[in-house]
Amino acid sequence: MIVSKDNINGIFAAVGNTKLLRLDRIFPESGLEIYAKLENLNPGGSFKDRSSINIIQKAINLGKITKNTVIIESTSGNMGVGLAQACLYFGLKLILVIDPLINPHTEKLLVTFGARLIRVKQKDDSGSYLMSRLDKVKSLVKQEPNSFWTNQYENNSNPEAQRLIARELLDQMDNKLDYLFVGTGTGGTIMGCLREIQYRGLETIVVPVDVMGSKIFDAPKGNKKIPGIGAGQKSNFILPEYLHLPVYVDDRESVMGCRKLLQREAILAGGSTGAVVAAISKMRCHLRKNSKIAFLISDSGERYLTTIYDNDWVYKNLKLAL
Ligand code: PMP
Repeated sequence: MIVSKDNINGIFAAVGNTKLLRLDRIFPESGLEIYAKLENLNPGGSFKDRSSINIIQKAINLGKITKNTVIIESTSGNMGVGLAQACLYFGLKLILVIDPLINPHTEKLLVTFGARLIRVKQKDDSGSYLMSRLDKVKSLVKQEPNSFWTNQYENNSNPEAQRLIARELLDQMDNKLDYLFVGTGTGGTIMGCLREIQYRGLETIVVPVDVMGSKIFDAPKGNKKIPGIGAGQKSNFILPEYLHLPVYVDDRESVMGCRKLLQREAILAGGSTGAVVAAISKMRCHLRKNSKIAFLISDSGERYLTTIYDNDWVYKNLKLAL
């Protein structure tokens, strides 16, 4: 496939326009109206399809990516899947820097899509692998003369794409949304959504959800084992003054959130969605009665069958007996 700005149909046509569900069973006594947007239904299985494809398309249109360009990125998994999909479609080489926390299922997907994987093993001072991954990316970019670092941590095409999630969501809810809970990593999703809320002049309160040990909002210490949210550095996008105070969640609470969503609503979601469910659970007594709350099913739980949904893994890694 020749790289061209006209090649934007095919699989990309399936990204976005995800369904919104009303969930009556997750918090039945709360007096809250709960809604979930099924971002796991994107073809790559997560909302990061949106940013990965937008970053690649924009860079192609600007002539920053041509047919021999090698794409390089650091990923906890989902951005990698989106990029692998886009790079395969456009016939581009892709190198992804991953770390040991990646789900085995996601890793297999990446290999199946033809990405070359480089795994860092060194934790940084904060106990996260992010800085090691970024160091590796920077050295690869130096070595590879015709490379393009998609840089989801700083590239504005990331929040720009994620803004469409809120555009769809607010249309689906007729602009009547009191609280939006969002898990944070690069901060692209939460800030993209916030921008659309502000643009519409709405009073929706946006609540960031972060994990113990993350530096994004200086969370208390913790040793996270579940990939997706949290980061070993501050976000380049997040402006905390426009957000509610963050709700911190640990891995055990994320697992319990995932299991609750599965048992009560038959929705099989990934770890960051479990974290958000746990955060809503913590906050629910403080939220205005009858208010409308929305969250995103950020990725599919199929990627976590051998971790979050495996009782042995949960016991061994989190000392939680289920
Ligand atoms: N949830 C999941 C499942 C993710 O993969 C990510 C991105 N790593 C996030 C949440 C955080 O999203 P963002 O990078 O847009 O802050």
